[in-house]
Amino acid sequence: MNHITIEPEECKGCRLCVEFCPKKCIAIGSSINKMGYQYAEFKSEKCCTACGICYYVCPEPGAITVFAEKKAEKEAVKIDE
Ligand code: SF4
Ligand code: SF4
Repeated sequence: MNHITIEPEECKGCRLCVEFCPKKCIAIGSSINKMGYQYAEFKSEKCCTACGICYYVCPEPGAITVFAEKKAEKEAVKIDE
């Protein structure tokens, strides 16, 4: 399935990914990371289209990784490689 991962310790809680995700798959959670930020969390694999918008708007290079499902093999691959 299409999905993303968000590294809690890389996230600054800026909300850009939350605002720009066209499917509203991301939300700011209630947990706080070591830097004191409430970090973003991925909410649902069902809605993610692997469009990559969250990855491109995020100011933290290591925070978000997007995985797109390969249609033929049903296998997730990173889109930024
Ligand atoms: S890849 Fe696209 S649909 Fe999936 S969480 Fe990111 S912005 Fe939303
Ligand atoms: S855009 Fe990046 S830094 Fe900002 S809330 Fe989303 S994951 Fe965190």
